[in-house]
Amino acid sequence: MHFLKAAFQRITQQTSSANQDINYTPPSYFTRRRDGEDTPRDKSCFNQSFYLLNNSYIPSSSRSFHLEYLNRTLISHTKLTNMNIADENPCPHCKTLATQDHMINDCIFPKICHILFKQFMVDQGWDTRETLSETYWAFFWPVKTIEYRKYIQLACFWIEIKKSAHKIAQTSRFPRFRALNFQAKILTAIKMANASTKHLPNQETAQTLTHFMLDKIDSIPHHYAELLYEINRRSAPRW
Ligand SMILES: [Zn+2]
Repeated sequence: MHFLKAAFQRITQQTSSANQDINYTPPSYFTRRRDGEDTPRDKSCFNQSFYLLNNSYIPSSSRSFHLEYLNRTLISHTKLTNMNIADENPCPHCKTLATQDHMINDCIFPKICHILFKQFMVDQGWDTRETLSETYWAFFWPVKTIEYRKYIQLACFWIEIKKSAHKIAQTSRFPRFRALNFQAKILTAIKMANASTKHLPNQETAQTLTHFMLDKIDSIPHHYAELLYEINRRSAPRW
């Protein structure tokens, strides 16, 4: 495992000098495009998401998670399968490949969080085609409609939610999760995300988002049922 650590340190060193430049496009942008992963068509959106690594208000553990996410080096079931460590299995909930991006952006846990985030965007009057898109949920770059200091609070919160999404997908109980399990895990994730913004100079946007999401917590079983219905409809054989 030592060579992995050395390689990771090398990438971190390279990126820490490059991330001083907001126009820098990391190589992971081009490999994502090559592999057909969802990536913003506009390079500058990806660059700006990458630039978050340079923001000292984002806790260092969140920054390293975000770097691994952008570089696609987080552990996922697909990766373990490719390394012959796990059997080839799709996501137990969605019957699709359990890639890193699926578990963090498109699986049931992140999808429900995305629904609540979108409702918050509407509530705040920040809803545009851009901010409500799947790609925005995946990379969360700064936009003109949201004041930058508010955006940083949201970005901090957003990374923590993604960290929770990744963590729960690694738990052995994950395949048996049902509506109430997702509800409980999302509740914990909201609290942790709120705590991750506690050190920010102005925390009011993160607090408003926390209260907004907690108010919607009872709607989670309903969203879960709708997502499950959609997944089953998509995976049903067509006659
Ligand atoms: Zn899934």
